[in-house]
Amino acid sequence: MANVRVLIAKPGLDGHDRGALVISQALRDRGMEVIYTGLRQSPVQIALAAIQEDVDVVGLSSLSGAHNTLFPKIIDELEKRGAKDIPVIGGGVIPAEDIPYLLESGIKKVFTSGASTDALANYIEELVGEKPAHTPPKKIAHIGIAVENIDTALPFYTDTLGLELERIESVQSEQVKVAFINIGESRLELLEPLDQSSPIQTFLDKKGEGIHHIALEVDDIEGRLSQLKDRGIPLINETAKAGAHNSQIAFIHPKASGRVLFELCEPSEEEES
Ligand code: ZN
Repeated sequence: MANVRVLIAKPGLDGHDRGALVISQALRDRGMEVIYTGLRQSPVQIALAAIQEDVDVVGLSSLSGAHNTLFPKIIDELEKRGAKDIPVIGGGVIPAEDIPYLLESGIKKVFTSGASTDALANYIEELVGEKPAHTPPKKIAHIGIAVENIDTALPFYTDTLGLELERIESVQSEQVKVAFINIGESRLELLEPLDQSSPIQTFLDKKGEGIHHIALEVDDIEGRLSQLKDRGIPLINETAKAGAHNSQIAFIHPKASGRVLFELCEPSEEEES
């Protein structure tokens, strides 16, 4: 495949392009061809440059606060010229509150100032099909709750809340007994340690009963784990292991996620709905 071509553009009046230059260089280091428009470009100039240079992606950078007017204008100008298939992504100083509006206006993705240049480069490679797409998790498979004793804990869920107990089983890899309680398209998972070596026992000793993890349902768990590993995301399990009901599971290290423990969970074929 030919090199990915990216137009980096700075619409509007702000006079600083250090960020745009850093991004341009980071993308070049990843083997992309980057055309940088320079400062203070109008939406029309940017759209024309994107078309003339036949780029695969347009990256807009804005520090001036005018992104909510300028970014959608660039989408319009591309559309007017029959080039709305060129994906446009945005970044710079953009408050998270503005992201939903920008996405609605046709911006493919917005990177806030906390994003790494690697995340941007990875996203572009996926966008143009150089790398397999990183599909988001499908839903919350379950929320794991550590309990001292399932029999004692269960009445709150089944009697007070009136939820239905689906099944109880033992998961040897984690030394736990697990009760699955159905709630809508998701589940609550009560976890009782089977012996002192269980990670749930360690959790109970340290923190007491409470929410232990959130499990996200994914496809192709092994592919996703290697993708996370490539990106330097710390993992507790680098390959999947057997979870409850023949699922495949793996935990992401909580230092990647603000101390929330996330489990990736790929259900067994027969269970997939
Ligand atoms: Zn779980």
